[in-house]
This record gives sequence, C-alpha cells and structure tokens, in this order.
Amino acid sequence: MTEFSFFNPVRLFFGAGAFDRLGEHAAAWGARALLVTGRSAARKSGLLDRAVSVLDGAGVAVTLFERIMPNPTAAVVDEGAALAREQGCDVVVAVGGGSAMDAAKAIACCAAEGAPAADFLRLEGKREPSADTLPLICATTTSGTSSELTPFAVVTVEEWTQKSAIRSDHIYPNVAIVDPEVTLTCPPGVTAAVGVDVLAHAIEGYFSTAASPITDACSERAIELVARNLPRAVEDCGDLTARDAMARANVFAGYTLSNAGASVLHALEHPISAYRPEIAHGAGLAAMLVTYAERYFDHDPWRFGRIAKLMGRGVPGAPTEQSAEFAADAIRALLSSVGLDIRLADLGVERDEIETIVDDAMRYMAGAIAKTPGDLTRADLIALLEASFSRD
Ligand code: MN
Repeated sequence: MTEFSFFNPVRLFFGAGAFDRLGEHAAAWGARALLVTGRSAARKSGLLDRAVSVLDGAGVAVTLFERIMPNPTAAVVDEGAALAREQGCDVVVAVGGGSAMDAAKAIACCAAEGAPAADFLRLEGKREPSADTLPLICATTTSGTSSELTPFAVVTVEEWTQKSAIRSDHIYPNVAIVDPEVTLTCPPGVTAAVGVDVLAHAIEGYFSTAASPITDACSERAIELVARNLPRAVEDCGDLTARDAMARANVFAGYTLSNAGASVLHALEHPISAYRPEIAHGAGLAAMLVTYAERYFDHDPWRFGRIAKLMGRGVPGAPTEQSAEFAADAIRALLSSVGLDIRLADLGVERDEIETIVDDAMRYMAGAIAKTPGDLTRADLIALLEASFSRD
C-alpha cells in the first residue's frame, strides 16, 4: 500500500504584481532587512530600486548587500553574515536567482549562529542550522533553481573546491514571492539554463527513491510545462504567457525538489562547477541529461515513457512503456531548441578530470547519489560522464 510524507512550510505568493508586496511581507517578519542580491542584474533592471522602495514604504530599514556571484562562495556568505550582525538585521530578503537566494539562506543561518558557512558544510562534525535562523523572504527573478521553496543552500567552499548544500528545515524561506512579470528581464541564455534546471529537478525527482505521489504529480506537470513553454520563453523574452508557465513549472519542480531531492545529475554537476564556477548550473546539467535518458530508459520504461509522452514524443495508442526510448530524443530536441544540446567538452571540461569529478561526487554528494535508483557504482558514474563528454 502507498505510504509517504510531505513537508513544505513556505508561504507562497504567486502572480504578476506579487513583487510589490515584498515590503509588507518583510515588515511582518522584521524591522531591519539585509537585502541580498547579485552584483548587477537587479540594479540594472530597476528591481533593486523597486525592492528598496517597497521595503522603505513598509517601514523596513534596508542594509544592502549586492555582492553575490554565480556559484556563491562561503567567503561571500561570511561577509554577508558579518554585515547582518553588525547592522542588527532581523530579517533577510533575497532578490535574485538561485545564487542570491542560496547565499541569503546561508547568511540567515550564519548570522544567527555567529559561525562561518564552512562549519555547516564540512563532511565531519558539521554544525546544524537552528530555529534561531533569521526569517527569510525570497523573491525569485528567474524560473529555475526553486530555491525560494526548498530547504537547501548551495555554497562553494573554495579552499576545499567543494560545492555542496546546507540542508535543513530551518532554512526554508518563510515567504516565497514568484512574480512572472519580474522574470521578463531575465536574458535568453539565463532563461534557457535555469529552465533546464527546472527540467532536471522534475526528472531527477521523478526517479528519486524519495519520490511520492505528490512529487510525481508535480514532476509530471513541470515536465509538460517546460516542454511546451521553455522554447517560447527563450525565443521571446517578453512573452508573459510563456514566462507565467515557466514560473509555474519552477514552482511544481520546487515541491518535487524539496521533498524528493535531486539525484545523480546534480551530484555530478556540483563538482563540475566547483572546479569551473563559470559554468552555469543548468548548462552542466544539460550536458548530461540526454545521456542519462539514453543509458537508463530501460531501467524504468513506464516513467521514461511518461516523460516522452508529456514532452510530445509518445507513440500514439501504444502502451506507455513503448515510448520510453523516445524520452532522450524529446529531451535532446528541447535542449537543441534553446541552444543547450551540449556536452561536457563544450563547457571546457577535460576528459582526464572525469575520475576526480566522480570521486568528489561520491565524497560529498553521496546523499544525492543514494537517491538514484539502481545502486550506481563508481564505474557507472564514470561511464555516464564518458558518454556525456562529447557527441562522437
Ligand atoms: Mn538545480
């Protein structure tokens, strides 16, 4: 019989115009906000000014921290946490994509505990976040990562070349604001990469050993929405209907990710971008997605068959299992339509790095690997990366 649990404590506000309620939500949780964002996008798009103005209007004092780089480091988290403590901030507000939100979550934890980020990321004797973690309001500016709905903060510790996640129910944001209008300023390349991240969360969670009927339904909806809308969102950044659909896809995939977790592709992507932080998370995933479907479709033909059907490549009238082999084609076609039918070599990864990547994944992404069905071995992971290295 069916048995599962599901937990997600985030209060979600979705819709065009939701961003302007940032101030009132923050005011419900604190009087002085650390406003965490990236180094340029939110300022250029005018969103940062809007955020400051609505916070100000709601009587929330603002300390600005606009220093977050892609693949945020423990050092920048520590810097933000020190600033929050020095300024007496009692709420952390993130305006940005996954990097800004993950950094903000880690800052809220580190500022409250007075401990460096590395303490929460070390493999042995690590500290756990507590209920003292500062309240968090996350307004996402991209449709990808779902950080606004998850208990994860992915941070790179440069000294260890380790990109892994703080994972705790205490770092779920208190409030998530998903305003599709805000994503209109997200450029095509970023839209494509984060859209692939959404697809990966949905697919990896669909096969996760922690999947449930709820996450399955969320995964299926997310896969369908991405297949139908990502190409349009990338082609015409101003298409609000496509943006709205991708924002919903990201929400559904977020519920999957928060409870089913990611698995093998995320486990392998983290070490890849730990060594090469210039690689966008979604691009790293794109390089492995097709190969994963090609190599593993016969391990779960029904689910791969469902993916093919949801992506419009199913065999009409045939049993679901018979569409399994077309899932890889469907994924390849989607990636190709958004300029991301790529392999690891296209990202600058060298073939002789493959074993190191796998060993790192097994060392610090073991939890994600364990969620992959089929008890994948070191040799399986090496073979997956070898197959994902180039198209020939
Ligand atoms: Mn991801």
